[in-house]
Formats: sequence, structure tokens, C-alpha cells
Amino acid sequence: MLEKANRYAIQTLDSVVDLSIYDNWNINNNSHSKSPDGKLDYVFMVYRAADGLYFTDDGDYYSGIASLGAGNLITLQSGMKVDMGTFDSGSTTHLHKSREFTFEILVHEFGHHLFGGNHPYADNSSSIAQNGRSAGYWGIFAGNWGTPTMNAYEKELLNWIDVTEVSGNIQLDDFILTGDAAKYEVDTDEFFYFENHQRTQSTSGILSTYDRPNINASDKGLFILHVNLENGYLDWGSYSLKSVVSDGNWDWQNTGSLTLMLVLFLK
Ligand SMILES: [Zn+2]
Repeated sequence: MLEKANRYAIQTLDSVVDLSIYDNWNINNNSHSKSPDGKLDYVFMVYRAADGLYFTDDGDYYSGIASLGAGNLITLQSGMKVDMGTFDSGSTTHLHKSREFTFEILVHEFGHHLFGGNHPYADNSSSIAQNGRSAGYWGIFAGNWGTPTMNAYEKELLNWIDVTEVSGNIQLDDFILTGDAAKYEVDTDEFFYFENHQRTQSTSGILSTYDRPNINASDKGLFILHVNLENGYLDWGSYSLKSVVSDGNWDWQNTGSLTLMLVLFLK
């Protein structure tokens, strides 16, 4: 039913809107280039639904899905192609209890479009997500478990930023404004990323700010992310992303640029 409803809506749109203005990108795994590929870039389908109603699939309940319903590529009357399948031309969700929560779901599902299916948290009843402890990281998948500010690991993976390897003192300007970040490689699957968040960015309304590396709006300064990959990927089963708590080591309220001294807690 999901696929039918989405297809009907997109076909109807195609008859009244020139969808070619939404084909500007070509994506291939983590890399993308700005050139049209004849396929709709991305569409978020958000259904109005009373609170408590969820999409279901064989008894599985989910708040959003990184798919338009089924795996087939369709061609619209205008000639535009739409891939209805997983991690492709779009995602589907419904209005949740709040606009913010719905927005976080959309960010999460778009993360699957960019990065594929892995989650940086365990997906079972004893996981950090279920126990509410995974709020200790930030990233595009964080959804309502953490905070959805994209982190330096993710931006580097997409080639959006160049990250400086820590080898001495480093100065970091605001991460969101400049993309400045540093990393320390422990081994091929383990890194520390350093970001300076001054929370200077705000939007016209949603969440009031998108620079939100944690839930305490007054925390500003150095944020350190511990990345543990599983065979090169963020993993469902391992705690791939964790923040490193400063507790007594750092001043959260640094208000300018930061100088990183080679840090004591690194091995
Ligand atoms: Zn997901």
C-alpha cells in the first residue's frame, strides 16, 4: 500500500510540477557529484496520521522508512525516473507527536540515503539506544536517540571537509561555520574526532538550531567523538559512536577559537 500511495502522489505531482528541477545530483555510495542523472534526487513523503498510528510491515512497527515502498524503478510521464526502493529516491514517514520529532526522523532516513543501512547504535532491547544512553553522540542517524547534527566523521566520509590529523597544537574554528575538525587515528578502525561547537547557527524555526551536538543548549566548546568502526563501517551491533566526556579536563564555556594540546586521555 505504501508504494501505491507514494507512486500515486509522485505521479500526480509530475503532472503539475516540472520535477526536472529536482534532479541535480548523481549519487554512488558515499560519493556524489553535481550532475543530473535522470532520476529524482530525493523526496520526503510525510503522511498526516493520528498520533499512535505507525506504518507496519508484518507486525514490525516503524516511525519512518528509508524507502518509497518497493524496489522498482518507475518512469514518470515526463520521463523522470524514481527509484522506489531502499536508500534510494526517497523516504516515508508520518507526522509524529511533534514537528521536531518528525524532522529528526527525516534527517535519519536521509542519512540512510547517504550512508546506507548501518546504524551507530545497537538495535536490540539491551542496546544503548533502548537504555537511553546513546544520547552521548551526535550524528545524522541520532534521531530521537541522540542529536542529529552531522559529525566530522560523516562529513569527511562524504568528502565535504578535510580533517586535520592531530600531530601537535591545532586551532579549531567553529565546526558548523568552517568545517574545521581534527582527528587522531588510534588504528584503522578507531578514531577520535575533535570539533569546536559554538552553536552560532540557527534556522528559521525547526529545532531553533541545527548545531546541536548535545541536548544542553548552553554547552559550547570542544566536542570529542570516539568512533569505533566494525570492518570499516558504523555498525548495528557495536557502539560505534560515543562522545568523550570532558569532566574536569576541559572548559565547556570556551567562547573563541580553540587550541588543542595533544590530549592526555589519548593512548
Ligand atoms: Zn535507520
